Amino acid sequence: MNLAKHLSDIEVSAKILRHAVPKMSELDIPVTPDNYSVWYEYFLGVNLDLNRTIDEYISKGVTFTAEINSELVKNYILEQSPEVIENVHVETQLVINNLLEKVTQMSSGTANLTETLSEFHQELKQTVDADVLLKLVNTLADEMGSVISDNKQMEASLNTMNEEVSSLKSEMENLSIVAQTDQLTSLFNRRAFEKEIESHMIHYKQDHSASCLLVVDIDHFKLFNDTHGHLIGDKVLAYVALALKKTVKGTDFVARYGGEEFVVLLPNTELNDALTVAELVRQKIANQKLSIGKEDKHSLGSITVSVGVSTLHNSDDRESYFIRADEALYRAKSSGRNCICSELAES
Ligand code: GH3
Ligand code: MG
Ligand code: MG
Repeated sequence: MNLAKHLSDIEVSAKILRHAVPKMSELDIPVTPDNYSVWYEYFLGVNLDLNRTIDEYISKGVTFTAEINSELVKNYILEQSPEVIENVHVETQLVINNLLEKVTQMSSGTANLTETLSEFHQELKQTVDADVLLKLVNTLADEMGSVISDNKQMEASLNTMNEEVSSLKSEMENLSIVAQTDQLTSLFNRRAFEKEIESHMIHYKQDHSASCLLVVDIDHFKLFNDTHGHLIGDKVLAYVALALKKTVKGTDFVARYGGEEFVVLLPNTELNDALTVAELVRQKIANQKLSIGKEDKHSLGSITVSVGVSTLHNSDDRESYFIRADEALYRAKSSGRNCICSELAES
C-alpha cells in the first residue's frame, strides 16, 4: 500500500470515527459492524442517496429502530457497496492502533487505563473479526472520552491547585516577612531576633566559634521626644537603625529589640573586635549632626547611644547571653552614657 494513501486513510478513518460514534450514540444506534458501516459511509459522504435518506430521517425526527438500521445496511451497504464493511474493518484497526499509541502516551502513569489499554491491545492482536473490533472501537471511544475529560479536569485542577499553592506560598512569605519586620525602622523585630539568636547559639556552640552580642540604647531619648516631638523621635529611630545597618557587616544581624533599644548579633567575632564595632557605632551616631527640613533646616543637635557587649559562653542560654550584654549596657549608662561597656569577665 502506498504510504501517503495509507496515512491519509488513517486520518480519514479517525475523523469519521470521532464523528460517527458520538452521532450513533446520540441517535441511540448500537455500534455494530453493520450499523457502523452505514455511518462510516454517511460521514465519508460519497453515497449521496444514503446521506439524503439519513438526513431526511434526522430532520423528521425518525427513531432509528432496528428495522430502519437493518434496512439502511441492506439498501446502501450490502447491495451498493459491500466492500465498505471490509474497508471499515481494516481502516478502523489502523485507527485504533494509532489512537492506542496516543492514549498510552497521554495517560502514561495512569495504571488503570494502561491495564485496560493493554487488554485492548491483546484482543486487537488476536481479532480479525469486525464485530469484536467495532465493540472495541466503541469502548475505546468511551475510554478516550473519559481519559480526555479526566485529563482536562486533572489539568484544570492541577492548574488551580498550582495557582492556589503559589499564592498561598507568597502570602505565607509576606506574612512571615511582616511578622518578623519592625514597621518603623524596617529592621528585624524582637520576634525575629529571638528566633535568630536561638539557631545562632546552637550553631556557634557546635562549632566553638566566637559570637558577640551588642545591646544599643539611645541616651535620654525620652527627653529628645519631649523636646522635638514624637514624630521627629520616630525619624531619629529610623536614622539610628540605618546607621547601625551601615556600620556593621552584612552577615551581622540587626534588630529593633523594642522602644529605642537595638540588638546586633556578630557571628565569627571575638570580644575585642565586637568592642571595636560597638565603639564605631557609638562614634558614628554621636558625630552626626541631626537636622530636619530641606531648605529651612532646623537643627536637632545630636544624639548618643550607650552599648553593652557580651560574648557567647558555652554554658549560655538565650537569657544569660542577653543579660550579660544588658548589664554591660546598664554600666555604660551609669558611667555617664555615650560609651560602651564589655561584659564582666567570669570569675
Ligand atoms: P536612657 O538614657 O536611660 O536610656 O534614657 P531614655 O530616656 O532613653 O530611656 P527611657 O527608658 O526613660 O525612655 C525611653 C523613651 O524612648 C521613652 C519613649 O518616649 C521613647 N520611645 C520608645 N519607643 C519609641 C518610638 O517608637 N518612637 C518614639 N518617638 N519614641 C520612642
Ligand atoms: Mg534610652
Ligand atoms: Mg531603653
